[in-house]
Amino acid sequence: MAIEQVIGIDLGTTNSAVCVWQKGQAVLVPNKWGEVLTPSVVGLDEQANLIIGRPARERLQSHHALTQASFKRYMGTEVSLALGSRQFRAEELSALLLRQLKEDAESWLGQKLTQAVITVPAYFNDVQRRAVKNAARLAGLDAIRLLNEPTAASLAFGLLENREQKYLTFDLGGGTFDVSVIDMFEGVVEVRASSGDIRLGGDDFSQAIVQWMLSQHPELKSAQAGLAAALLAKAESMKQMLSHATEAKASLEWAGRQWSWTFTEAQLAECSQPLLMRLQRPVQQALHDARFSLQDLDHILLVGGATRMPLVRQTVARLFGRFPRHDLNPDEAVALGAGIQAGMVMADAAVEDIILTDVMPFSLGIEVVKRHGNQIEPGFFLPLIERNTFLPVSKTETLNTVSDNQTCVLLKIYQGEGRRVQDNVFLGEMSIDVPPRPAGELTVDVRFTYTLDGLLEVECRYDGSPVIARLVIEKVPGQMSEEQIAASLQKLADIKQHPRDRQENRELLARCSRLYERLLGDERAWMDRLTTAFEQALEGQDLRRIASSREDAEHFLQQYKEGLLP
Ligand code: AMP
Repeated sequence: MAIEQVIGIDLGTTNSAVCVWQKGQAVLVPNKWGEVLTPSVVGLDEQANLIIGRPARERLQSHHALTQASFKRYMGTEVSLALGSRQFRAEELSALLLRQLKEDAESWLGQKLTQAVITVPAYFNDVQRRAVKNAARLAGLDAIRLLNEPTAASLAFGLLENREQKYLTFDLGGGTFDVSVIDMFEGVVEVRASSGDIRLGGDDFSQAIVQWMLSQHPELKSAQAGLAAALLAKAESMKQMLSHATEAKASLEWAGRQWSWTFTEAQLAECSQPLLMRLQRPVQQALHDARFSLQDLDHILLVGGATRMPLVRQTVARLFGRFPRHDLNPDEAVALGAGIQAGMVMADAAVEDIILTDVMPFSLGIEVVKRHGNQIEPGFFLPLIERNTFLPVSKTETLNTVSDNQTCVLLKIYQGEGRRVQDNVFLGEMSIDVPPRPAGELTVDVRFTYTLDGLLEVECRYDGSPVIARLVIEKVPGQMSEEQIAASLQKLADIKQHPRDRQENRELLARCSRLYERLLGDERAWMDRLTTAFEQALEGQDLRRIASSREDAEHFLQQYKEGLLP
């Protein structure tokens, strides 16, 4: 039986990319525009047709109420994002984007795709990871493996220079910052430790520039949302200009008036200072947890679009006392890693010998009480699995009941490093019924299992209970229920795609172009006429015209297939 093609997807905050493992190498898959990066932007046009990628990004300013970008930041939350009058969760917008990536890849590969390796920030928690899996499901894809983004980039680099080495991957994307320390030896790519900040990325630098722009023209502060999008676009463009020049200019026309700014490297350095400071701690923590010193590292590898900023590169050089490497295109490294992992999942011979090990970047545990004499104080965190433990991992902790005749044990699950649970992220809770006994006489075994995907399973058993109860974590804030997923599937199916983007129409156009390439003379000219008529009908969105020009084109293709034409 043929092995099913698995695709690797970098679902980025700013851009997304697809990569497949083919003929012994990772190949980036172009979208329908022939580009390997698809902006992670989703919108609707005035007729409520879906627009995704570059055309949606082009409408961010002009149609801000109908367009959404950077929604990855809200994965696994209840935040509602509007496209006109319709409301979406981040999972749903991600699903629309994933569906497009899947269809583009299907057209390019000429086969149906159902399975994907999807990358996630290493610091994504359990809820956010499940949100990515749900988004894939809504898009008709099974996310068979979630891969940490810096691990993906490290894998791509490891294969580029397949030798014994230790390196640190510094990944600053649009919305997240991840650091991984890698030890590579004898075909093993071992992630020794990961750390990061899920609220720090290139977009924060753009926001800092917006604040500076407003400080120059405070009268703009009270302006409406449309202006905020325009200001952000100007800030983004000045930020990118300063990656190549020492000064950047921007001007903006709004409500009949014009505003302008001249922004310098020094000003960027000043307003970025608080953000640059935040780069330090995750680096130190990852090195500490890996038990590596700066001298142990052979290289520092830069990944993520925001590492194009000279200021970020200087900060990295200062932190490490040497210049970082940027061998891999920062926009493509994560997708390449996802493609390699897809090859590994398919057990391709070329990557069969590579072993990838990863770690859990944060500690997981439960809330426990502390007893001071007769007093009980709740709210303490008991880590069951400590951060940077190798995956997969399974650990059991034995606990005692705290009250006489207690009939239920409530487990509150948290992620983080704080001593008190209030300083950590609440992941969910579950309870099991227990037989009444005097306090402390009943013991409960709690087993945490953390999978390679970074997902948590919890099992619980009290002494004497006949079976181990595997409990699903309930009441998880931000997690979609089965009913919500079913409703979303219906909702997404109802969104109209532009006829030009519908799979059957795109396939027909592809067949027309293929035949055009083979034909010559009058037949070629005829094929061109039929294709143009079909394209124009699609642009016009007149369903009757689309149907008739479709039929004409199909008739011609059919005749050719049946050998009726020479
Ligand atoms: P990624 O999520 O890896 O695609 O990174 C996107 C981030 O990189 C965004 O915040 C962009 O503003 C930023 N970025 C991309 N190109 C540049 C550039 N030439 N200079 C500065 N920042 C950039």
